[in-house]
Amino acid sequence: MARGKLFVLSGPSGTGKGSICRELINDNNDIRLSISMTTRQPRTGEEHGVHYFFAEREEFLELIEAGGFIEYADVYGNFYGTPKAQVEQWLEAGDDVLLEIDVQGALQVKKSFPQSILIFVLPPSIEVLRNRLVGRGTDAEDVIDRRMANAANEIGLLGSYDYMVVNDILEDAVAEVGSIIRSEHCKVDEETADDIIGRYKEDR
Ligand code: 5GP
Repeated sequence: MARGKLFVLSGPSGTGKGSICRELINDNNDIRLSISMTTRQPRTGEEHGVHYFFAEREEFLELIEAGGFIEYADVYGNFYGTPKAQVEQWLEAGDDVLLEIDVQGALQVKKSFPQSILIFVLPPSIEVLRNRLVGRGTDAEDVIDRRMANAANEIGLLGSYDYMVVNDILEDAVAEVGSIIRSEHCKVDEETADDIIGRYKEDR
């Protein structure tokens, strides 16, 4: 069976990556969302094993040591990482996997999985991004300022991505990401082409 495909959705915080992923997963049974591990404190309403695996720093460092992450990054002073085992298992079983991670992590994934597909989610404008972060009401003003400064650096790496989606109207952005996933499945790669050509020759 063909291995699943690895899709990585990233972009500055406040662009609505999380909402896009949630909608995609709800609408689509064939794609799995990886749950990251983090050392940050849970926000109100967040559950262990649903939104993140919340861990102590020690535990996180041990998993790094054991080579248990596909990628990890220090984001605003907390560690975030994608545990390897589950993702490998899904891909091996032929399921597509979606990672919602920051830009540093996405570039690490591309290095270790060159066939991964990187999708950058952009806000419609810088003002909209700030308004969303303020409206979310979860971060102090200095954190918002830091996230805004970082957004400019992250957008600077857009050229390393395969696709970009502007999240203005959520359902349009979800549909665009869905189209990207479908297109990737219609793409001709050398292995699939050889396989199909071979089968046609045999059956003739
Ligand atoms: P938040 O604290 O708002 O949930 O996430 C902060 C940032 O960390 C977001 O940009 C989010 O995409 C990113 N993030 C979440 N999980 C991971 C992960 O496993 N690896 C990396 N590199 N970034 C992550």
